[in-house]
Amino acid sequence: MEPKLEEIFGSYMPYKITDDTWVISFMNGSEYMYLLEGTEKALLLDTGYGAGNLRECVERLTDKPILVANTHYHPDHSAGNGEFEEVMVSGTWEIDAPSVETPGAIPFDISKLPHPDYKKVMIGDGDSIDLGSRVVEVLGVAPAHCNSSLFFYDKKNAMIFVGDEFEAGQVNLFDNSNNSDAPYDVKERLDNFKKNALKIKSLRPRYIFPNHNGTPIADCYLDDFIGLVDGIYSGNSVIEDKLNHKYIEMDPKAPSLCRVRNRNASIFIKKELLMSVYGK
Ligand SMILES: [Zn+2]
Repeated sequence: MEPKLEEIFGSYMPYKITDDTWVISFMNGSEYMYLLEGTEKALLLDTGYGAGNLRECVERLTDKPILVANTHYHPDHSAGNGEFEEVMVSGTWEIDAPSVETPGAIPFDISKLPHPDYKKVMIGDGDSIDLGSRVVEVLGVAPAHCNSSLFFYDKKNAMIFVGDEFEAGQVNLFDNSNNSDAPYDVKERLDNFKKNALKIKSLRPRYIFPNHNGTPIADCYLDDFIGLVDGIYSGNSVIEDKLNHKYIEMDPKAPSLCRVRNRNASIFIKKELLMSVYGK
């Protein structure tokens, strides 16, 4: 029997990484959401694909009122927003909105979620979310993986939540907004990507939490990503035409992409655009 869509996209395995921080693992352990508890409130970072059963899971983990925010506005992070009355999003969410709202972008009919017209509360650099004895700072992110990323920084616990901007598998640095009007300049993206890595590095976090392919990750990845960008400009980063990624290879965009590697870090990027800056 074929597995139901809910079983693929809405099977959650929560586990605690500290007394008051949950990782909610899904997609067979390859993707994560996070639940941070303070003494008064809890903060859920991201809402998954919109399978409709996340809220129930999260309410079993905490008895505190739940605030919800998106690390960025992509389908696997924000399609479940309509399970909640209110969600905090980046002020630039609309640029990436077609990636969620284009028919067929996600496997569920999110207009059937309990709050399809949920309230979006704009947040950005300099905002902070007070959970009671635990303050989470919102940090602006220069567009690299997408146009609507935010970092969430829990200074006291030296934790930073980085969305899809950094991860141990590969960071998607090609335009994935599904929006033909979205700005995308390859040099700007690469420069922003390096700038974001340097920003995280300067905070010296103990934990870096990405949303895919392993969590938390060591900060040596940041150095490898910084070196990857430098290596593109010097012509020393390694380019591989074979992506070695089962799902990305199914994407119609796949033949135009390549993988670029430096030590443990790698990115997917459009090859033609990469070559316009490689070794230059
Ligand atoms: Zn993403």
